[in-house]
Amino acid sequence: MKRTFLGTIFTLTFCLFTTIGFSQSKEIKIEFLGNCGLYLTDGTTNIYTDFPYKSGGHGYMEFDESELDSIKENSIFIFTHKHSDHYSDKNIKKVIKEKGGKKYGSWNIEELKNLEKSVPNFSIQVFKTKHKWSSKHYSYLITWHNKKIFLSGDTESAETIGTIKNIDWAFVPYWILLDAKENDIKIDSKMFGVYHLATVQIPSAKENYEEIENIKPIIIQGEIITIELKTE
Ligand SMILES: [Zn+2]
Repeated sequence: MKRTFLGTIFTLTFCLFTTIGFSQSKEIKIEFLGNCGLYLTDGTTNIYTDFPYKSGGHGYMEFDESELDSIKENSIFIFTHKHSDHYSDKNIKKVIKEKGGKKYGSWNIEELKNLEKSVPNFSIQVFKTKHKWSSKHYSYLITWHNKKIFLSGDTESAETIGTIKNIDWAFVPYWILLDAKENDIKIDSKMFGVYHLATVQIPSAKENYEEIENIKPIIIQGEIITIELKTE
């Protein structure tokens, strides 16, 4: 009888701790969805960047229709630009109609600043960056739970990212690394997630940028990067 009682107490305590453990945010999870498409979450807020795009747009990565179904309700969608391998009007309209949420990009860039009022421990800096065939391209620096995450998008130049200090994770296409090398630009980032075309291009990028050992090619759709947060 006594043993059962203690057992119950133990189980309850264990469950309580487990529940508390899960409800506190201890990490930011970033899932690769394809091209520059990422899903970022701290367990409370859900952010999609350059997703949903048009599956197979410009001949780049496709994704399964079920990816759209698995998008979380009331998410934040942030786009670097409107090329079809980054953005789909049809898909984003459908998702927002079904699940709510809000999309951000060149058309309402000023409104992005308001996110820091509604998203805890979050702020975003906006950089107008150059991209061929797009007059409205933006890169972003997200600061979330004191972690700095840079989203480069399609811009060809490392000039902007080269001005930012203490980045934790820089999501860049391989050509940013090559541009930085060629123009002697130092990028101050602990980690590099190389997205968009990483499959083909990463070996040459590494070869040409040998001093960077902290490069993670992001190739497989569904793969997850975890950023550990300090627990207080
Ligand atoms: Zn583009």
